[in-house]
Amino acid sequence: MVSIAWLRDDLRTADNPALLAAAHEGGAVALYVLDEESPGIRPLGAAARWWLHHALETLREDLGSLGIPLVLLRGAARRAVPEFISGTGADAIFWNRRYGGPEREVDAAVKEWAADNDVHAESFQASLLHEPWTVRTGGGGPYRVFTPFWRTVSAMDFRTPLEAPAPSVPPDNVPAGDDLADWNLLPAHPDWSAGLADAWTPGEAAGQSALEDFLAGPVQDYDDGRDLPAKPGTSRLSPYLRWGHVSPFQVWHALSRVRGDGPGPDVFGTEIGWREFCWHQLFHNPDLATRNLRPAFDAFPWEYPQDAGPQTPPVLRGRNPDQSPSGSRPEDLAPLDAWKAGLTGIPLVDAGQRQLWHMGWMHNRVRMVAASFLIKNLGIHWRTGEEWFWETLVDADPASNPANWQWVAGSGADAAPFFRIFNPETQAKRFDPNGGYISRWAPDALTPAYPEPLVDLKESRRHALDAYESIR
Ligand code: FAD
Repeated sequence: MVSIAWLRDDLRTADNPALLAAAHEGGAVALYVLDEESPGIRPLGAAARWWLHHALETLREDLGSLGIPLVLLRGAARRAVPEFISGTGADAIFWNRRYGGPEREVDAAVKEWAADNDVHAESFQASLLHEPWTVRTGGGGPYRVFTPFWRTVSAMDFRTPLEAPAPSVPPDNVPAGDDLADWNLLPAHPDWSAGLADAWTPGEAAGQSALEDFLAGPVQDYDDGRDLPAKPGTSRLSPYLRWGHVSPFQVWHALSRVRGDGPGPDVFGTEIGWREFCWHQLFHNPDLATRNLRPAFDAFPWEYPQDAGPQTPPVLRGRNPDQSPSGSRPEDLAPLDAWKAGLTGIPLVDAGQRQLWHMGWMHNRVRMVAASFLIKNLGIHWRTGEEWFWETLVDADPASNPANWQWVAGSGADAAPFFRIFNPETQAKRFDPNGGYISRWAPDALTPAYPEPLVDLKESRRHALDAYESIR
């Protein structure tokens, strides 16, 4: 008897109800499908593809030690999964639920096929503390404001994390599936992933260590430390949560061990709440990455260079992330390219953009400043920035990325008001007072060779406020 655990954004062995259920039935096989064909499913960005490659390698080893083979398939899941079930003769398939619109359609189609073909199909809650349809306002609709949303969700009972399945004997005659190398997830010609490899170890064990290291120290000062990008004051758990190497249930219960001493753990818990809130928004607005949640913003005179979003600008093309892009003249670049390359002449923005290019991650405070600069000082549509982050972040998340871009733009749910325009110089003085972050990521900012600012901050701010007036 074969039971399939269809893994998606839950690349872990522990606290994985679908995997546990498949193993319980005996003869468990894990399946991962790279679906770049189903309509509406967003193809992964380049940094995410790098992460996925290494995550699957590690997962194969982790599952192997439990006697569970991992089979890789590429194609439209609504076709590939039924074919695999038929090919193995499996009589049961289990998965953990997804909350994006197109993904749910695929899952529903597979469930329907299973029902028609006498195959047991069962799904579980594993990636969110709350299921978006279970939490509603007094009026019965979705939440649009974070504080009451989180008050409701954080008062719920969250199950304790589950153990990994006990080791067992692998089933016989499991089809081989694809060779991971054939998926070409890793960059080549040039290979720009050195900075990512220096910064990250994808996989469950590394995610659990990151959680433990954070809880052993930085969490207690998180309320202050989280805003200082020069310090390791945040957990850096985002890619591990994104890929499901760590579950929110594991984080929540581990956090309860260290609560009580000061505000740090509670403030950190609230950030986990923001992740939940972003998914709540995506569930209720499947087009969150392409549509302003506040329709008034449809008339905003942003520039939206079509096709420009995820393109790597020529100044970065072929460049190893170890090389600083300084030396190129920003006046020769289109404003969007200067922003992507970290050559705007605004030190905090440039430092952030270069950190992103180097390691596929940027500190949250700097993400807000860099996004605000693109949208409000350069007058470029938030979607363009969202697409670049999607391409370059190892934690690129279908819910958190668009929700946060819309938050900065003012077009989203419970968003910062548009007139709140971060001043990158004031932000740098306040949150990088000793210049440690800027000198780490944009050392040329301290030299006379550093370019003049691409725009005048005051003038471009005024321009943005005038544009905002035009849609009010
Ligand atoms: P910590 O401060 O340690 O927080 C712990 C966890 O809480 C994070 O790992 C993350 O899962 C969650 N979290 C924290 N802040 C937020 C937030 N504002 N929204 C949603 N979840 C949050 N986060 C992503 O995971 N993926 C993205 O694609 C993403 N894009 C962003 C784009 C912009 C423009 C902005 C302003 C923020 C974005 N964020 C995104 C949110 C946030 O910047 C990152 O989650 C955070 O910087 C990750 O670092 P950390 O794990 O050390 O965070």
